Amino acid sequence: MEELKTTVKIPDTGQLRSIYSVQFDELQEWLIDQGEPKFRATQIFEWLYQKRVNDFEQMSNLSKDLREKLSKSFVLTTLKIVTKQMSSDGTVKFLFELHDGYSIETVVMRHDYGNSVCVTTQVGCRLGCTFCASTLGGLKRNLEAGEIVAQVLESQRAMDEVNERVSSVVVMGIGEPFDNYDELVPFLKTVNHDKGLNIGARHITVSTSGVVPKIYKFADEKMQINFAISLHAPTTEIRSKLMPVNRAWPLPKLMESIRYYIEKTGRRVTFEYGLFGGVNDQEEHAEQLADLIKDLKCHVNLIPVNYVLERDYVRTPRDQIFAFEAVLKKRKINVTIRREQGHDIDAACGQLRAKERKEETR
Ligand code: SAH
Repeated sequence: MEELKTTVKIPDTGQLRSIYSVQFDELQEWLIDQGEPKFRATQIFEWLYQKRVNDFEQMSNLSKDLREKLSKSFVLTTLKIVTKQMSSDGTVKFLFELHDGYSIETVVMRHDYGNSVCVTTQVGCRLGCTFCASTLGGLKRNLEAGEIVAQVLESQRAMDEVNERVSSVVVMGIGEPFDNYDELVPFLKTVNHDKGLNIGARHITVSTSGVVPKIYKFADEKMQINFAISLHAPTTEIRSKLMPVNRAWPLPKLMESIRYYIEKTGRRVTFEYGLFGGVNDQEEHAEQLADLIKDLKCHVNLIPVNYVLERDYVRTPRDQIFAFEAVLKKRKINVTIRREQGHDIDAACGQLRAKERKEETR
């Protein structure tokens, strides 16, 4: 896990940088360098994020010269739809192909309070969580910020067809967002920017498996974004069995960083806790979990395990899930059980890609 402390560089394929990776302020500076007035940044952002064109040529209020400069400097990332599945509950799941042939998943979940998009941050993952399909085959490469933004845009295009809006974003797809931190942050800023996708910080959620140094960094960014941690275990012994990342940053270190985050931001965190039959789902585990987090400003989201063909964990029976929840409630811990969506379309992280792209995930 030592290598996690270094950054993975995006291999240079000669591809131009995505225009969706460019921050608003940065675009203003670029325009000034080109001898253009900086208000053109507002016009360009409108074409990108409100009108959602997919060709610089369509930006009709820009000069031909500027359109040419843009197309020589940046690419308007498009994601090729390999499959688009619709679940009976309205969930839409995309398998997209990137310019270099790799594939990623994006899921649009429909709720009565709005539509949320679950985005992927890496092609594969190197964390090796023993229950997760996303890590089968390891990490192929990091996504560029613009490739993450493009997933939200493509989801919005699908929602345009039914006159609906994407109102929230969750960074819970394939990959470890904090293992691609330098692309994650510009993505979050563009999604949140009022001239970008204009999705409020409180409608954006980032989830990490526990890359501790980045938790400190994220706390210092002071973004008002929702923060979730995939805890999954009440003790460091159990956590190490489920998540190799715990060997690099053991539970006590993780908890220290979370305390720092809460202190620094004043925000409540969410602990995701997957119930894995016979491993971490007994009432004694619930008691241990309550001991661990009792004085923290937090919320626990219990996740009934999704069965993954390549992994052999079993689901916790319903009664036992409720018994686990009851222990936490008794101990005055805020707790909910995750509602499941998209069961009929392999909507759990990495499942669709693992099925459709066997060569990438072995
Ligand atoms: N790498 C980040 C982002 C992924 S979020 C993280 O680990 O937080 C996806 C969530 O689904 C994580 O909490 C992950 O642990 C959980 N998950 C993965 N595979 C699962 C499975 N088979 N059943 C239930 N939850 C799973």
